[in-house]
Amino acid sequence: MGKLFVISAPSGTGKTSLIKSLLEDPMSSNTKLGISCTTREKRPKEKDGISYFFISEEEFKERVNNKNFLEYAEVFGNLYGTPKDWVLSILAKDENVILELDIQGALQVKETFPNTQTIFIIPPSYEDLTKRLEQRAQDSTEEIQRRLNEARKEITIGKDFDQIIVNNNFDDALGDLKKFIFLDEGPSKKRSEANKNSLNLLLD
Ligand code: 5GP
Repeated sequence: MGKLFVISAPSGTGKTSLIKSLLEDPMSSNTKLGISCTTREKRPKEKDGISYFFISEEEFKERVNNKNFLEYAEVFGNLYGTPKDWVLSILAKDENVILELDIQGALQVKETFPNTQTIFIIPPSYEDLTKRLEQRAQDSTEEIQRRLNEARKEITIGKDFDQIIVNNNFDDALGDLKKFIFLDEGPSKKRSEANKNSLNLLLD
């Protein structure tokens, strides 16, 4: 059996860019990223079947009834679900799977498969997170506030994940991710301190 990893992070923490770079590493040849189903609107640069499988709410509910999802959750008003058969078939081929899920999804997967390695990526501070959400210019001021409030709640849950990684520096965070996923190693002493200090700052 391959290994299952779930990566979660508050919105705007840089999780998607980190995962993209992780999968460009030659060591990732045995690791696949899950493609979820969602009822949210496709964004301009997204492609159906690559970013997500974009489906209607009706179809989503049908798949829930047919128990097609390993987990599913409502995130910011839209439904998201992980196709179960796909994940199981990849793991059965001795390949590893990475799922990029919200915190509720991560907890559901951990409960179903306790061997899942959960990774929580955190911003160095709320000020930094606010800046990043503003810079990506994707959301209104109200939406940014909502995402920040959500981040506070997520951090109180994510603090108990198997591995915490602070994205205060992209390369350092990527290094931690690679060590954990490809080499089954924890962060260096210096990074471990940085991760702990940032988490404590966010929890204060
Ligand atoms: P976005 O709409 O910005 O792509 O994603 C919003 C949130 O939904 C992110 O935290 C993302 O990780 C999460 N997400 C994406 N796919 C799934 C899924 O299949 N299940 C769950 N629970 N969350 C998901």
